[in-house]
Amino acid sequence: MFSLSLGSRIDQLLSLYVIDIMNTLLFLAALLLMIALLFVRKLAKELPKGRTRNWWKILGGLIVLFICGYFSFYLMKLGTQYSSSEMLVPVIFFFGAIFVLLVCVLAYRTTCELKRIFVLEQESITDPLTGIFNRRHLDRRLQEEVLRCHRYNLLLAVLLVDIDHFKKVNDTWGHQVGDLVLKHVSRIFVEVLRQTDMVARFGGEEFVILLPHTPETESYSLAERLRKTVESTPLQFMSDGTLTEIRVTISIGSACLLPESDSAFDLLERADKAMYRAKHDGRNRVVRCPGHSPVQPGRYQHEGR
Ligand code: GH3
Ligand code: MG
Ligand code: MG
Repeated sequence: MFSLSLGSRIDQLLSLYVIDIMNTLLFLAALLLMIALLFVRKLAKELPKGRTRNWWKILGGLIVLFICGYFSFYLMKLGTQYSSSEMLVPVIFFFGAIFVLLVCVLAYRTTCELKRIFVLEQESITDPLTGIFNRRHLDRRLQEEVLRCHRYNLLLAVLLVDIDHFKKVNDTWGHQVGDLVLKHVSRIFVEVLRQTDMVARFGGEEFVILLPHTPETESYSLAERLRKTVESTPLQFMSDGTLTEIRVTISIGSACLLPESDSAFDLLERADKAMYRAKHDGRNRVVRCPGHSPVQPGRYQHEGR
């Protein structure tokens, strides 16, 4: 009689413990899902507007439904005993919530990490002052373009641009205005050039422009257009409360890739020589590199100047 009542007392205590544990598991599971929901919101904010972001929002909505389901089950079982099969439900809910939370946290952290890598990658190829490509990226792209052009017998033109009397701008207006001029000229290049062209800051006040698939005559007229646009577009800025204008000019050396043996280095060197001739001849002009001049895509001919 005594042992029977002790046994049933232990059973009673155990079932109370089971109810407590199950309810705690359900409560924790709902809490974990709420935390997961916070990460889904943070993740959606990191993503640009579009399909992926919408899908994450839908997933957030599903998590809200799950949280409602967990609470409904919790209320349904409030104060009642758990059968052995029912005991599995809060356990599955709990581990399911851990899984969802882990997926959301990892997705958020992976997105942030990828964004960080993307920013670093962009920074490593961008000139911080002007926002155009830097010399490192130019060297890589030029090597690739030269290889591709030799392999497929394609045209490639290069323009080497130097701002005229830039030291005078710095000396007259200060280094900061000199920086504004560099940005101004870079902006004009980006606006005038085609999407397939590439402009990079070569160093100081020098720029290199790559013109893939461009015949010599076309690269010359593009260079002339750049020169005229820079000449006719003054930089406006406030100096001591008054609107001030500066006009600068540029000298351009243009060169085209020669068949087979021509290297990226040789190509740049020829453009550089042509640019120095432009300086020597009085600045604010375009000088074509003497020598070979391709006239048709994929074909080259010798043309003296
Ligand atoms: P030229 O017509 O012969 O090219 O004369 P220049 O004065 O343009 O050429 P020079 O090589 O004598 O002077 C270039 C100046 O560019 C010197 C340097 O202080 C300045 N410079 C180089 N990098 C920067 C920069 O990032 N910002 C500014 N503001 N100036 C720079
Ligand atoms: Mg220079
Ligand atoms: Mg200069």
